[in-house]
Amino acid sequence: MATLMLSGAAFMTPLHAVAGDMESVYSTYPVYAGDDLELTVSDNGTRFRLWSPRAEAVRLNIYPTGRNSAAERIVEMTRGENGTWTASFPEKLYGLFYTFQIKSDGKWLNETPGIYAKAVGTNGERAAIIDFSATDPKGWETDRGPALKHINDAVLYEMHHRDFSIHPSSGIVNKGKFLAMTEEGTRNATGEATGIDHLKELGVTHIHILPSYDYNSVDESNLPANKYNWGYDPINYNSPEGSYSTNPADPAVRIREMKEMVKALHDAGIGVVMDVVYNHTAENDGSNFSLTAPGYFYRHRPDGSYSDASGCGNETASDREMMRNFIVNSVKYWAKEYHIDGFRFDLMAIHDTETMNEVTKALKEINPDIFVYGEGWTAGDSPLPAERRALKENVSKMPDVAVFSDDIRDAVKGHYSNAADRGFATGKPGNEETVKIGIVGATAHPQVDYSKGNNSKFPYASAPTQVINYVSCHDDLMLTDKLRKSMPEATDTERMRAARLAQTIVMTSQGTPFIWTGEEIFRDKKGVHNSYNSPDSVNAIDWSLKHKNNDHFRYYQELIKLRKAHPAFRMTTAEQVARHLKFDKVEGDNLISYSLIDNANGDEWKEIKLIFNGSDEPRTVKVARRNWIVIAEDGNIAADGLGTSEGGKIEVAPRSALILARKK
Ligand code: CA
Repeated sequence: MATLMLSGAAFMTPLHAVAGDMESVYSTYPVYAGDDLELTVSDNGTRFRLWSPRAEAVRLNIYPTGRNSAAERIVEMTRGENGTWTASFPEKLYGLFYTFQIKSDGKWLNETPGIYAKAVGTNGERAAIIDFSATDPKGWETDRGPALKHINDAVLYEMHHRDFSIHPSSGIVNKGKFLAMTEEGTRNATGEATGIDHLKELGVTHIHILPSYDYNSVDESNLPANKYNWGYDPINYNSPEGSYSTNPADPAVRIREMKEMVKALHDAGIGVVMDVVYNHTAENDGSNFSLTAPGYFYRHRPDGSYSDASGCGNETASDREMMRNFIVNSVKYWAKEYHIDGFRFDLMAIHDTETMNEVTKALKEINPDIFVYGEGWTAGDSPLPAERRALKENVSKMPDVAVFSDDIRDAVKGHYSNAADRGFATGKPGNEETVKIGIVGATAHPQVDYSKGNNSKFPYASAPTQVINYVSCHDDLMLTDKLRKSMPEATDTERMRAARLAQTIVMTSQGTPFIWTGEEIFRDKKGVHNSYNSPDSVNAIDWSLKHKNNDHFRYYQELIKLRKAHPAFRMTTAEQVARHLKFDKVEGDNLISYSLIDNANGDEWKEIKLIFNGSDEPRTVKVARRNWIVIAEDGNIAADGLGTSEGGKIEVAPRSALILARKK
């Protein structure tokens, strides 16, 4: 803990001084490392401690309600240790709300609930003082997420609360709410399972929920307006979003209901991954960071303006100690208080590798099963030097972090931003080597020539556990829409064949597979590639599709079952992959054949042969003459086998995967 006190001159430095000057000033800010920032309620009463080293004065406002009421007490806070300001009360102030207000450069700034607020009222305007023990659902003390040896034992399912439950066909009562996930026995009109029962049927191990902390863009005081947003515009990082609760005005309700969601999923054996967006805030000068310690939590350009590696107007500064502490403390809080099982870092490369390593270290101490992955890129340039960024290319410096593989994503289905572009699974040649990079989990492999990679030129992963494989997520055209735009002349039946091939490649590759909600029933988003604020008519999943496309759903279900039953698809070291994964020489484009050999990773199967034909013509391959079990063929799959084959010359149907297995 630094104990440096600021000189008077430093306090007087104008906010918009030359950035270089400010950078050196920020580095002199004292660090407060205690765990009692902002609010602590105990038998000794209620204690406030705000970190704001440069403030000239700080006020604490106490309110009877979360909004639209006058302060019942206004207290001048006292300067305390290491840049903090304190105020305390002998009683527990449960039921009341508060804001801080700092004086900076002679001006009183707007009120802020602070940066650590764990309970908030409507729209997160004021922080709330509540008894957290009253927010725990029954059985919470013994609640646990699924045990997991390695991240690649997970099958990830990314979803938005509203997409998943809002459509009338969901049969769910609490539509668009955390509580939607707690409803068992829900069905569509034709009797197929929806909601949490659907997830159990599908067999995914973890759901990855889009931002669920308190965000800006949905007005919680006007929920009947039914506004939709993904939520990548954070306000209060440590409180759940109010619009997903049944009553945003009561601060305890969103907390209790989110915990009930986690508990219901855990009871069903499903883990919860949270999407966290520490890289930027919804507002610049008006954010809680800016109103608490102006300038400190952000990076700036040489002219003093906000730098913008997020493409959203600003970027935070994880390389500054109190910002790093904030990120680490925030994820620790979600892990402990809400039993969150994993974290997905948005635009992770805006953070530095040191921060990400602190994050994983802190989380593993709480629960070694917690895992972390993120987007190994930025959305714009940053003053943070490239070698310090948590980039995909730097993932080997972060042993417990995984990154999304844009390699497999673009190579299998075509380029993400060019709608008409096709990929390996839709018949475009030239992507074979990049698909192979995906298959080996971006690790070094003697048969993969990285110089031919479309997006990466070297094996960036030290182990396959450092890669998330996917072809579709909330961003860009989802798989159904991508296939409709890139295969305009085809039928949906033909497109579904391509979708199955694409997901078979993902689900059998080394690394951790990840799918986007609803693609298992071939839902679409009406061709909208950036649906962040599109209405429900674009984003909602129509659950009648589960009936219409039931074969498609069954394919996904068996594919997931296959992956979970066979450790060969889940090798944990680069050495294992190099030894147990052998590519075959094949002639022609859009054809890949490989084997997982010698009971890879302790698999009961001696050999698994996988042949992917992305062309629109049948292809003949030679397979060793053995007693094979046929697992997948011509758009069909069964984890326990569809039939048998003696090998030899075998025809692989167009746009399909052939998977064979033998025990000896
Ligand atoms: Ca909100």
